[in-house]
Amino acid sequence: MKLKNLKKLLLLSFFFYLPFSTMAWGVLGHRIVGDIAYSYLTPAAKAAIKKILGTESVAISSNWADFIKSDTDFAYLSPWHYVNLKPGMSMSEVEKFLDKDTAVDAYTKINFLVKELKKKKLPAADKVFYLRLLIHIVGDVHQPLHVGRLDDLGGNKIKVSWFSAPSNLHRVWDEQLINFQQLSYTEYTNAINFTTPSQRKAWQKQTVKDWIYQSYQSVEKVYADITPDEKLDYLYNYKFISTVNSQLVKGGVHLAGLLNEIYK
Ligand SMILES: [Zn+2]
Repeated sequence: MKLKNLKKLLLLSFFFYLPFSTMAWGVLGHRIVGDIAYSYLTPAAKAAIKKILGTESVAISSNWADFIKSDTDFAYLSPWHYVNLKPGMSMSEVEKFLDKDTAVDAYTKINFLVKELKKKKLPAADKVFYLRLLIHIVGDVHQPLHVGRLDDLGGNKIKVSWFSAPSNLHRVWDEQLINFQQLSYTEYTNAINFTTPSQRKAWQKQTVKDWIYQSYQSVEKVYADITPDEKLDYLYNYKFISTVNSQLVKGGVHLAGLLNEIYK
């Protein structure tokens, strides 16, 4: 076996070993964020994005960054999906940490992608590649467990059960709470996408740091609430579905603001 193939095999076995649930908002969550964002795009942004994505909608393009994870050539993108934060940080501590942040993570990469996408002379292939990544990663930082702790891998190592089936805390937040609502992504968008112009204006003034801090405030509550091996079902849905929904709406509004700013 050639060394290159051996390396590929080793990488591949490493990825199969990782739980499937390290994926971030599941397929639905990302599409809902994309769909909500689309509803708030300016005509200029809609036109520019259509030129780049063609017939692929913002909602559908949002999943691409997870789909390519099965291609080992893109393994380097895995840390782009999250930021790990320590417990008990204040807002200024989170901001200071992000200011000094040079790690390959969601925060530094959102900044990188926005800078690249604002360039007038970006090659066409990069335009698609970076736009799909940005749509996805903005969604990710609104999933509270994507700004979770390193020692439990954002809740992946916290075993729980979801309606008696073995799961972990990350997976419950990525997809199980959302799937439990039994709505398609368009139905879901129609059910939760209610914002006022003044609300959108305020949210779109917030910085990427603010988004991350808001997710962090949610994840601190999620951590404080959970006991390892806890059996989660109706009560958990009752306690946290409003957090899930508000994070999805904010994610969509934030993403729209960012895209409107890039494609002025
Ligand atoms: Zn992701």
